[in-house]
Amino acid sequence: MRHDIKHSDTQVGPHRCDRINPNTGKPCNQSFSRPYDFTRHEATIHNPLKQKVRCNLCGKTFCRADALTRHYQKYPGVEIPKQVPQT
Ligand SMILES: [Zn+2]
Ligand SMILES: [Zn+2]
Repeated sequence: MRHDIKHSDTQVGPHRCDRINPNTGKPCNQSFSRPYDFTRHEATIHNPLKQKVRCNLCGKTFCRADALTRHYQKYPGVEIPKQVPQT
């Protein structure tokens, strides 16, 4: 008797994202036929590092919170405001 069971570790079929889209605040409900598209979607939409923070004083945007914190240091005497994530 032969055992021909293939161990499939590659998922076929649609990949679905039902996570909350931070831009809209709603679930994406998007399906992707290729894993690559799904990965790219997650990297662009659900990547917290890509979320921008803004300086309340001059309106400049920064990709990273620590860059903004450093930016605030050039305003003497200004308290660094806390970044409140929108939920
Ligand atoms: Zn998504
Ligand atoms: Zn500024």
